[in-house]
Amino acid sequence: MPIYEYACPKCKSKFELLRPISKSEDNSECPKCKTPSKRAISRFVSRAKDDMSFLNHMPASTGNSCSGCSSSNCSSCGH
Ligand SMILES: [Zn+2]
Repeated sequence: MPIYEYACPKCKSKFELLRPISKSEDNSECPKCKTPSKRAISRFVSRAKDDMSFLNHMPASTGNSCSGCSSSNCSSCGH
């Protein structure tokens, strides 16, 4: 899921949220003052690059084979 950055029009604070793409254009409440805030810029591209470099460090034998969770290493789901 991509990370979106939101900017509060009232207190000017910025915050990031993990959201489905279908929700990316929806307003989100500022965590400080609860003002509905619009999306600022998408961080999806830079995060995607981080994900790719992370995958390159994975051992070839494991991969993302777990069907019980969305984790790529399954260290937290017991599989
Ligand atoms: Zn605010």
